[in-house]
Amino acid sequence: MVGGTHPIVVQSMTNTDTADTAATAAQVRALHAAGSELVRVTVNTDDAARAVPAIVAEVDVPIIGDFHYNGHLLLTKHPACARALSKYRINPGNVGTKRRDDNFRTIIQVAIDEGKPVRIGVNWGSLDQQLLTGMMDANAALAEPRDARDVTMDAMVESATRSAELAEQAGLPHDRIILSAKVSGVQDLVAVYRMLAERADYPLHLGLTEAGMGTKGVIASTAGLSILLQEGIGDTIRVSLTPRPGGDRTEEVEVAQQVLQSLGLRSFTPQVTACPGCGRTTSTFFQQMAEEIQSYLRERRAGWQARFPGSEELRVAVMGCVVNGPGESKHADIGISLPGTAEEPKAPVYVDGALKTTLKGDSIVADFLRILEDYVETRFGSANRTTERHVAVGMHEADVPVPKNHA
Ligand code: SF4
Repeated sequence: MVGGTHPIVVQSMTNTDTADTAATAAQVRALHAAGSELVRVTVNTDDAARAVPAIVAEVDVPIIGDFHYNGHLLLTKHPACARALSKYRINPGNVGTKRRDDNFRTIIQVAIDEGKPVRIGVNWGSLDQQLLTGMMDANAALAEPRDARDVTMDAMVESATRSAELAEQAGLPHDRIILSAKVSGVQDLVAVYRMLAERADYPLHLGLTEAGMGTKGVIASTAGLSILLQEGIGDTIRVSLTPRPGGDRTEEVEVAQQVLQSLGLRSFTPQVTACPGCGRTTSTFFQQMAEEIQSYLRERRAGWQARFPGSEELRVAVMGCVVNGPGESKHADIGISLPGTAEEPKAPVYVDGALKTTLKGDSIVADFLRILEDYVETRFGSANRTTERHVAVGMHEADVPVPKNHA
């Protein structure tokens, strides 16, 4: 379920040729394993549409079909594809020019017949030109014309909401519609989504389109999404990073999860707080240790989630010296303060805010990881989980089943 009080969902998109069933299914599985809860694939040809049912059969995550120009043809010609997909994404700017509304209605009718939701996804790179031209002309006729950028933002909102109205008029239920209006600039993204959220109550899919590569893409996406999410705008998110050649497509999932977790909206993986280091840390020992602990947590994440639900909320601190080390470690669930320059070579470990032990020697990392593993098992193990879960859903403590050996 998406929207309302449901958790914000992480979405991603494949970049394989959808007609290549094996490659696409493999990438969908990788994205899902990384944490993507919905995966979109392009459906652009007959071969791609024919491949969709086989892809869906091979994976364990809902697949969204992305349609441009020929969606009305592909969805009617390939009913197995229409049935296998969990959602259709249509771009109102790309449903044809001559019989645009008819093509749009055809897709909506397939969605109605198959009981599927539809995302009406406007993109400023493919905005409905007829609508935009009309709005630009009307603006130019004003005594004091508005800035062209503002008119473009208005046109995006207009395109999305008009299309949603058209879909509802055609019979698609209100609660099967999701809207998006993607742009590639952070300020534009914030402006257009604020308008969209004010104009309509449909769930919104957020994403900065064409965010770019590397640090720029990550930071621009994070900046735009964070502002909106903080305002309560957004029900599904995607981070549209351009992978480096041979790069890992799943990075976009990791970034999306980290945005949500950093904002305190969802928890996916234990978090490490590590200080940046300074002149008090002359060796790279603590950097290596922070990296080793981060890698360890990443590796253990899936196993822990299955055995120790709630462990994704774990907070671990790895600090470089006595200045902020003990304080930050006490704020974490479990933390270690390594010795800085000229400090005695020992590392105090704090658990739940209290000093637990002090580690020394060459096995500090291994010793710390053992303490960490014990902590996770003790805190998130099944005996403790039963009590927490029942209290969390609103039962009185007296209603919580008492384990037999405590009766
Ligand atoms: S905790 Fe210590 S080592 Fe880390 S940044 Fe602060 S002063 Fe430097």
